[in-house]
Amino acid sequence: MKYRRPLIAGNWKMNGSLAMNAELLSELQSGIQHAAYSAKLNGQLSCDVAVCVPAAYLSQVQSILHNSSVKWGAQDVSSQVNGAYTGEISSSMLKDFSCFYGIVGHSERRVYHAESDELVAHKAQRLIEAGIVPIVCVGETLQERKAGLTEQVVARQLTAVLTALDKKALANIVVAYEPVWAIGTGMTATPAMAQQVHAFLRSQIALFDIEAAEQVQILYGGSMKPDNAASLLAMQDIDGGLIGGAALKAIDFLGIIAAANL
Ligand code: PEP
Repeated sequence: MKYRRPLIAGNWKMNGSLAMNAELLSELQSGIQHAAYSAKLNGQLSCDVAVCVPAAYLSQVQSILHNSSVKWGAQDVSSQVNGAYTGEISSSMLKDFSCFYGIVGHSERRVYHAESDELVAHKAQRLIEAGIVPIVCVGETLQERKAGLTEQVVARQLTAVLTALDKKALANIVVAYEPVWAIGTGMTATPAMAQQVHAFLRSQIALFDIEAAEQVQILYGGSMKPDNAASLLAMQDIDGGLIGGAALKAIDFLGIIAAANL
């Protein structure tokens, strides 16, 4: 029996427009309301739902979602508090838009922006200081998996963050296991493969704090879709999903939310 509440979080990446966001969120809200009021769920979803949107749309998304059960967040944050960092967005700015979550360490940022484990850890610190929950992404490349390095890589990435945070903050993070080879490729880790890494990640958190390890939601990300979500979410240590492509289509995102409410 699982006691961690699942979280289904969308990562819109660099997609959207004022018109597209309004339509997507309206479909999402009515779909969730419909699902929540179906006889089985009695008005309450049994999972948390969030969308992590481009910073430019935080104001729009906040005003659409402020009275809804859907939470919102950002996809990145500066590692600095404030000052002369052109183009950067600070955690306090994200807090001004009542962001609940902030993604850090997504593989697209690690690869395209050369973000190091240390930088990711600083970003997570800034979010915690601002009262925003970091969604800390870790994951191995195909080459690393083939070389048998999966655990070594994800342990290094996660430990950098766990070491940087205060022990009391550890229960206030979300971890996302996102095998790089599964992101946007249509290839998914099998439930058993993902479960093995999730259990390992939880054991790594337990080295710092056993109670936090039991509380932290560990999401799976990498081509999660309505047709594979239920089998992944059924695994003991898979507490939700971080969803890219399928979060841009209300029908797909709602299908994954439905799988988390089975
Ligand atoms: C992601 O990039 O966070 C992700 C999981 O993408 P996708 O679902 O498209 O694989």
